[in-house]
Amino acid sequence: MNHENFSVKIADSAVEFRCCDGDSVLQAGLRAGVGLPYECNAGGCGSCKFELLEGEVADTWPDAPGIREKERARGKRLACQSVPVSDCIVRMRPGDEFKPKVLPARFAVRFLGVEPVTRDIARFRFSDSGRALFLPGQYALLRLPGTGTARAYSMSNLANDAGEWEFMIRRTGGVATTKLFDVLKVGDEVHLDGPYGLAYLRENEHRDLVCIAGGSGLAPIVSIIRGALASKACDERAIQLFYGGRGPADMPSFADWLPAEEGRVRVHRAISDPVLVEAGWTGEVCFVHELLPAKLERPLHEYAFYLAGPPPMIEKVVRLLVAEHRVPQSLIHYDRFF
Ligand SMILES: Cc1cc2nc3c(=O)[nH]c(=O)nc-3n(C[C@H](O)[C@H](O)[C@H](O)COP(=O)(O)OP(=O)(O)OC[C@H]3O[C@@H](n4cnc5c(N)ncnc54)[C@H](O)[C@@H]3O)c2cc1C
Repeated sequence: MNHENFSVKIADSAVEFRCCDGDSVLQAGLRAGVGLPYECNAGGCGSCKFELLEGEVADTWPDAPGIREKERARGKRLACQSVPVSDCIVRMRPGDEFKPKVLPARFAVRFLGVEPVTRDIARFRFSDSGRALFLPGQYALLRLPGTGTARAYSMSNLANDAGEWEFMIRRTGGVATTKLFDVLKVGDEVHLDGPYGLAYLRENEHRDLVCIAGGSGLAPIVSIIRGALASKACDERAIQLFYGGRGPADMPSFADWLPAEEGRVRVHRAISDPVLVEAGWTGEVCFVHELLPAKLERPLHEYAFYLAGPPPMIEKVVRLLVAEHRVPQSLIHYDRFF
């Protein structure tokens, strides 16, 4: 770990924070409670771009897709991939909407065990000696031993005093998931940094909830539904879950994750690959977002939406909601899984 400690000052403002132990500009700012704009914290979305006016940063992922070469040449950087190597002055615009409700922290967690959820998604459980503090729908960065890099994973459980962190992770064959599925042993230590993320449950939105997930987007959506079921403020809100996968083997048993309360949640299942349809399949065969206009009884702008999954799925749903059904952006909360 790098113990150097530098200051980051935001130009034309009184905001200044310390950046230490190898933190990126984004992580250090959020840890200090500064509302720096961001979404994925993984180099993919480009929401945390800033201009480096003075000082130097090390770029932890020079090929990150969230920024173009032309932008780099003009002094732009990604805050999530920039680790200061001197004091810095930066131009970026913090906003109250990005201020963390729970300050992210770094600590070690122990691997407790894993169980299958679908053909390629499994539930991984970890524990920590303190309390597990996060909002339903948020994610953490997991740094797996020997990988030298961190990946974002959304919690699928709720904050708890027992220090339990639960994730639903899809095997992709990449660096982190190969470690998780094939190498990690019960009792091993993993470094967790979190919570992060802005697509958390808004308990006071006073609208019925529509949750839409594709693939491993299941994890934050399960947490959001659990959070809504546990919240007095959400007692009157109906909940609908739209879940999409390629084939029937991608469908989890929702009753396992939403035990007694499943009756309060209407679940719509869709598979996108007609070739995989099997005898006994009772869900739909289409892209999951295509179900929305037919299955939702009221005009779409009367609901609050929570989405999670691969970027192309999220982009299609947002286009449908905003361009075709005039749903205000403020009622659509999403995480794209870059
Ligand atoms: C906000 C968010 C939440 C997510 N939640 C979940 C979840 O709940 N469940 C789940 O299964 N997946 C989730 N993901 C996806 C997850 O983070 C990983 O991308 C996925 O598990 C594949 O990782 P891998 O290392 O196995 O694959 P790889 O192919 O090795 O890496 C995949 C991703 O890692 C990042 N990456 C690649 N190289 C670097 C580098 N040098 N430095 C930094 N980053 C790099 C890129 O984003 C790339 O797309 C989420 C992603 C985001 C952004």
